[in-house]
Amino acid sequence: MVQGLPSYENHPVVCRARAAGQKSLVRPLGLYWDGVRYSVHSSFTGFYITDILSGQKFVSFLLRSEDMCRCGCRGWCSLFPLVDAWVKDLHELQSSNQCAVLDIQCDWPAYLEITGGRFWNHTEHPCPLCLISQAEMNPETVPGITLDDLGHDLYTVEDYNNDIDKFTKEILVDCDDMLRTIARNLEYSTADRGRHLITDLPRFGLQKNWRLEPSRSLPDVSQFENQEVPLRVIFWTGARNERLTHMCPLFLLEGLTHDTWSIDILHTWHLGPMQQFISLAMHTFIASGVFSPRAANMEAADVRELALMAIKAELFQFYKQLRTTDPRWREKGSEAFCLEF
Ligand SMILES: [Zn+2]
Ligand SMILES: [Zn+2]
Repeated sequence: MVQGLPSYENHPVVCRARAAGQKSLVRPLGLYWDGVRYSVHSSFTGFYITDILSGQKFVSFLLRSEDMCRCGCRGWCSLFPLVDAWVKDLHELQSSNQCAVLDIQCDWPAYLEITGGRFWNHTEHPCPLCLISQAEMNPETVPGITLDDLGHDLYTVEDYNNDIDKFTKEILVDCDDMLRTIARNLEYSTADRGRHLITDLPRFGLQKNWRLEPSRSLPDVSQFENQEVPLRVIFWTGARNERLTHMCPLFLLEGLTHDTWSIDILHTWHLGPMQQFISLAMHTFIASGVFSPRAANMEAADVRELALMAIKAELFQFYKQLRTTDPRWREKGSEAFCLEF
């Protein structure tokens, strides 16, 4: 099923297993995470592993949104240790050649939250995968983008690694005096997304606004002052408007890069342009009056409501017909059950 695919054949774990003459199959895994709303005010982010060969999904962990850290980090203090533990487990599976992570299947916002990328409205870096700017995201340049030629340079693994080098600084805290001085000058900041320095500390090579970053040696930045020295910590030095907001432990996994993210047809087509097109078409039908009732002297809002009901009635009639005439529809067809303004 996956044999012959470049993403499988060229995966470093698969290559290593082959070179070692391993007989057993390296099982391909997909990673997936997304937010799930389970009541009006409550939601969680679920992290799942898919065994690609069987299609079976396994829950790795869930994080409720009300349990997310609110120090200014937008949840990263809570997410980092969990994602990092996930990475450690996956690393173990990969280093023993049992599994290879081939695929990340989440949608755009979920991907950005974990990988530390920027949203599409960002002025400098609206796309996590290429170097397009906001000014270039306009109707004139879009037709130049094809499946074979993006028209913009890709944001490569080297670019990512260079950025992480540029935006992080590792510091060795080697005495209690240094630990206390740094701790005294840390405050929580929304603008800097976490616990940042409120002043320059030139004798330690530290600058104002640098943020103490969760890391393997310090997973919980609020516990900094309670640590034993010597201690290695990481400061995030990137400016507020940079391409990345934090490092992502997932990229420590062998073979995992931005290329691992597979952009699926559900999110990019059905829930994207197709959804917009259908919505536009519905509004055009309603505005055109073809579905409007004939009665005079009605409020405009009521006319629209009745037109929508007429569309619904026709649509459900159409489904009913399909169900009796098309056996494939009964198995695979998906039906809208709710149409609202
Ligand atoms: Zn936090
Ligand atoms: Zn792009």
